[in-house]
Amino acid sequence: MTSERLTFCRFCHAFCPIRVTVENGRAVKIIGDKDNSMYHGFTCRKGRELPAQHAHPERLLHSVERHSDGSYRAITSAQAIDAIARRLSAIIDEHGPRSVAMYTGTFTHHYPSGTAFAMAFMAAIGSPMLFSPSTIDQPGKPMAVAFHGRWNAGPTAFHDADTWMLVGANPLVSMWGGIPQFNPAKRLHDARKRGLKLIVIDPRRSEVAQKAEVFLQPKPGEDPTILAGMVRVILSEGLIDEAFADEHVEGLAALRAAVEPYTADYVAARADVFATDVVKAARLFAAGPKGMVSCGTGPNMAPRGTLTEYLVLVLNTLCGRWVKEGEPIPNPFALMPEGENKAQPEPRPEKAYGFGETMRVRGLATSAAGVPTAAAAEEILLNGEGQVRALLTVGGNPMAAWPDQLRTFDAMKSLALGVTLDIKMSATAKLCDYVIAPKLSLESPSITKPNEALTFYGVSPGYPEPYAQYGPVVAEPPAGADVIEEWEFFYGLAQRMGLELNVEGTVVDMVNKPTSDEVLEMLTRGSRIPLSEVKKHPHGHIFSDPSIVAKPKDDDWVHRLDVGAAEMMAELDEVAEEAFYEHGGYDGDPVFSHRLISRRMKDVYNSNGRDLDKLVRQNSSYNPAFMNPADLEALNLVAGDVVEITSNRTSIYGIVEEAPDVRPGAISMAHAWGDAPEHDTSVRFIGSNTGRLVDNTRRFDPRSGIPIMSAIPVNVRKADNQLDA
Ligand code: SF4
Repeated sequence: MTSERLTFCRFCHAFCPIRVTVENGRAVKIIGDKDNSMYHGFTCRKGRELPAQHAHPERLLHSVERHSDGSYRAITSAQAIDAIARRLSAIIDEHGPRSVAMYTGTFTHHYPSGTAFAMAFMAAIGSPMLFSPSTIDQPGKPMAVAFHGRWNAGPTAFHDADTWMLVGANPLVSMWGGIPQFNPAKRLHDARKRGLKLIVIDPRRSEVAQKAEVFLQPKPGEDPTILAGMVRVILSEGLIDEAFADEHVEGLAALRAAVEPYTADYVAARADVFATDVVKAARLFAAGPKGMVSCGTGPNMAPRGTLTEYLVLVLNTLCGRWVKEGEPIPNPFALMPEGENKAQPEPRPEKAYGFGETMRVRGLATSAAGVPTAAAAEEILLNGEGQVRALLTVGGNPMAAWPDQLRTFDAMKSLALGVTLDIKMSATAKLCDYVIAPKLSLESPSITKPNEALTFYGVSPGYPEPYAQYGPVVAEPPAGADVIEEWEFFYGLAQRMGLELNVEGTVVDMVNKPTSDEVLEMLTRGSRIPLSEVKKHPHGHIFSDPSIVAKPKDDDWVHRLDVGAAEMMAELDEVAEEAFYEHGGYDGDPVFSHRLISRRMKDVYNSNGRDLDKLVRQNSSYNPAFMNPADLEALNLVAGDVVEITSNRTSIYGIVEEAPDVRPGAISMAHAWGDAPEHDTSVRFIGSNTGRLVDNTRRFDPRSGIPIMSAIPVNVRKADNQLDA
């Protein structure tokens, strides 16, 4: 029997609405839903490969348990939960709740029920050791907001903008970073047709950079220098929004003083860009009159990511680019409660970092970005009271994603109990005691609420309008499979351990298990639009209400946006005093020839999709080391050569590819590839892990703990062993 069902894709965070052709319970074909008013039928190759992902021959259809000889044997999910609950209880009894840590990876964004139950489980056992990608991906965003303050009514929407600036972001590929990721190519095309001027700063002339009116291609790691230079132009030429600054901003004098050294000539010489382009970009952005700067992942992974994100906020604030009193609120939410929507800054937190749980290593503690994930491996390896002995991983792959892979590898091997929920035997799964086989997206219901919540994460990454969709179950798991939803795993654990779960304010019935839809009701309690109403719109719907506009500032309101935060100004001073780098290394490093920068690849999503034939056939099954042709010639390399890329920490293999879009001196490589060291000679099939080049304990941000994960100083040379395919 064949039918067509409507839901949304969860291969990546864009959540594109799809029509799924289902034959006898199995998904066989995916197309975009042209009747959807937000995405207009957009999908990408990854989403169209969902049927292959669901039916992949290597997909885990049963949970597995590792035996003493290292082999894995199938086990029912109920037996696995029994055993894990027993072992966790024993560890907690002997070592306390802190000895149990959790890593909720990128995919927890896509499965909100699992995330909510995972967090409720950690709260129930009383462990603060909840690690996430937030501190190793874009920690600069929440940190910068903590220093600068948040504008309650939110940022100007992309569809209202006259000018937009992207710093190290390529939304046409990453579906992230400034242009709303819901059919970004169409949005950019439409915006440019109506006159939007685009400015891009990136060491690579990326797909989106090719559409820019002004493009600056700096040395990697120089984003703060360029942004400070632009701030200086805007201040010195009197291009700020004076009325907005008078009423809502503080710290201008300190900012003026701190950016004084950043003349256009200084910036040009240091970042290797044209001084005229720095001035042109500043003037074009300030002319607006509407539009914002937003920043991608790379600049956050590079040194001084918080300063970069802070200067992004400063530029937006100087030009008054926030929703003002009486202007419509672009997204007053649908599956979340309606916001306050006041045209005023929110109070800043007392501390941006150094609060909450303190790590036992390097003086790190919780920050606005969360518990520092870069400390997790050390917390596992360091003996003594409080040592982490069990790690539960959901929606993530620490062996691929965490920085400093060698340290992660040692840590994973030393755990008393490693558990992961994964669809395959990933690099992390292969080091765990239990791997729970989960349901996939077409087999479980979900909601688009996580993309609404992104509104609070930097500038414009969430839905630009109050859009919502409910995605029902549209396909059955393969015959004979014993797969469960993530939330069911944590519910089952809590039941067996005698715990009570509180999920976003709802005390869960621990006797009568809720249904998946009842769980979604828990997650949408108090939403502006009831879930039952959203369900009436199977194509998804924009729940507009033009009457929702930004309210006036409260009469006695004293809070202001701070553009002169002392720590950020001190960091600007530090940067201005640093020596320029001629080679790849930072001050005091040995000489390095290149800097390795991170990137996304169109056909994979972090470590996901590399095993799907049609995706890898389009390109390759590895993450190439993209280099400028001039660099290849200088190093006597040709495309396809295996190179050894060496950092201060260690070496990895890479396979070079000629890329005129990458500036000389840079190597552009996607992260989250490869496997454990013993698989390195398979680089032509599995790629390399750039995280292995990172040393967590050297040159890390003392606030969020993020080490240098992009703009990594490296040397490169042709490998002695070409590992011929
Ligand atoms: S961009 Fe592609 S992978 Fe991401 S949700 Fe849309 S179809 Fe799925």
